[in-house]
Amino acid sequence: MIDMKDISTMELKDLKNGLKLAKDKRMELIVKLGELVHLQLLNQKLNHDELSEISLGIASQDRLIYRYGKQITNINAASQQCSKCMQQLGGNAKFCGNCGTLNPTYIDPNTVYKSCQSCSEEIHESALFCPCCGMKQGAL
Ligand SMILES: [Zn+2]
Ligand SMILES: [Zn+2]
Repeated sequence: MIDMKDISTMELKDLKNGLKLAKDKRMELIVKLGELVHLQLLNQKLNHDELSEISLGIASQDRLIYRYGKQITNINAASQQCSKCMQQLGGNAKFCGNCGTLNPTYIDPNTVYKSCQSCSEEIHESALFCPCCGMKQGAL
């Protein structure tokens, strides 16, 4: 169900387009889930399997939205400009050399990453929840 096409080679406008489509699709599924719950409540019979299937669809859109967002951030980071004074930043500079503003895309080289147990996205080792799929990390 999840669209696994490689998004790392996509251009910014395609990424933004993809992000919008994924958000629309997610909204569509949310509405569908709401309708279904409503109908099932009216009939006083909840069909767990049917609901879970839509829920899984929403989760896969969430992952897609996360990956699009991350890729867009990466592309923006590659232009490396201070968000405050527009000064060019050096490669992976932590602070702007001109005004001292913290570079929000700075990546600490000491950061240790791990794979999410649920969606296998690369996340901070100390993360309690996956920022991509929202699953709690650690003991399952
Ligand atoms: Zn600056
Ligand atoms: Zn995850």
